[in-house]
Amino acid sequence: MGTVRCLRCVSCGAEYDPDRLDYTCPTCGPRRGTLEVLYDDAALRRILHRDSFAATGRLSMWRYEALLPIDSMRYVQPLRVGWTPLYAFPDLAHGMGLAALYVKDDGQNPTASYKDRASSLVVIKAQEKGRSIVTCASTGNAASSLAGFSAAAGLPAIIFVPERAPEAKVAQLLVYGAKVFSVQGSYDDAYDLAAEAAEAFGWYNRSAAMNPYLVEGKKTGAFEIAEQLAWQPPDVVFIGVGDGSVVSGLCKGFDEFARLGLIDRVPRVIGVQAEDSSPIAAAFSTYAGGRVEFEDTDAHTVADSICVGKPRDVVKAVTYVTRNGGSFVTVSDDEILDAIVALARATGVFAEPAGAASYAGLRKLARTGTLDGRTAAVVISGNGLKDATAARQRIGAPIRIAPRIEEIERHL
Ligand SMILES: [Zn+2]
Repeated sequence: MGTVRCLRCVSCGAEYDPDRLDYTCPTCGPRRGTLEVLYDDAALRRILHRDSFAATGRLSMWRYEALLPIDSMRYVQPLRVGWTPLYAFPDLAHGMGLAALYVKDDGQNPTASYKDRASSLVVIKAQEKGRSIVTCASTGNAASSLAGFSAAAGLPAIIFVPERAPEAKVAQLLVYGAKVFSVQGSYDDAYDLAAEAAEAFGWYNRSAAMNPYLVEGKKTGAFEIAEQLAWQPPDVVFIGVGDGSVVSGLCKGFDEFARLGLIDRVPRVIGVQAEDSSPIAAAFSTYAGGRVEFEDTDAHTVADSICVGKPRDVVKAVTYVTRNGGSFVTVSDDEILDAIVALARATGVFAEPAGAASYAGLRKLARTGTLDGRTAAVVISGNGLKDATAARQRIGAPIRIAPRIEEIERHL
């Protein structure tokens, strides 16, 4: 188990006992007072080395159990989460002026998204804390992920989704047996309602940012990129950004590996936001140290998983990406839809819009020449089958023919 030292508020730095506080800093409130999980680095340095993780024999994110905040492996679900493939595409890289390009396909997780890394961990935390119901609000993926892992653990899940959540994601929730509330309003409305209900009914809340253990699951993607590249991580890593928790997780993961002496240099993490859903990129662009200033907006993008106008982990994301030396880039919906098709045709990896946002960001920066000669990884955070309707906007129709061989010849 990870040797957790304390939970620390990302804004005021107050430290809390993890047995006494579940969510956010009472002084700074839910938006500014998100917590980070701190470990006993000195103890971890003594016991961990590069071979430690492979020695567990686990081909999942639980190979990093020593750096994760669970009491034991007792409640770990049988589903295989994490240790997703990291593919190299040298020809594609060279065509874009890169020295190397890697694609981390997290669409291959059990419920087909990166969110499984967080849900697996949070369901375990609910059981360790003796909570009998888990809940969350989600644009779709976190919800379907929580529903899947709750089903695996035999724990009831109550889920709040905005009414515009894609059909495939809602179907996933219902298939897994969750009780689903489709909220007449935005993701932000669903989020606030879930928090209120969790408080009123005593449910354990997995909604983005407020639960400090989510980022712990999400950091394992960084661990894997480093280990899968033989401890030589790429120069830059691209990830789509909605609430800001996944980008924070990647920054934290690389930072922890560096502080433990497992990697010599930390990749720059580039957060990619959709143009009309980019409050974190805006906050980052004006940040000059000290207090993070941000403004909530109306959000619109085809990439539903990153359509967030009121990002809950904005303080952590801006602080971590700044400390990491990374940055943000915004892309249009057209660039995201183009990226879905370009990625699928060049690599065989089919991403949902938010998943392809990372590749859209890479393509945009590569065209400026700023990545020439660099090594880069893109994290594909969700499988394309989750939102095939979006991809249909960029592809033609099949050729309708009668079942006769001459018909084929006419179209060749
Ligand atoms: Zn605080």
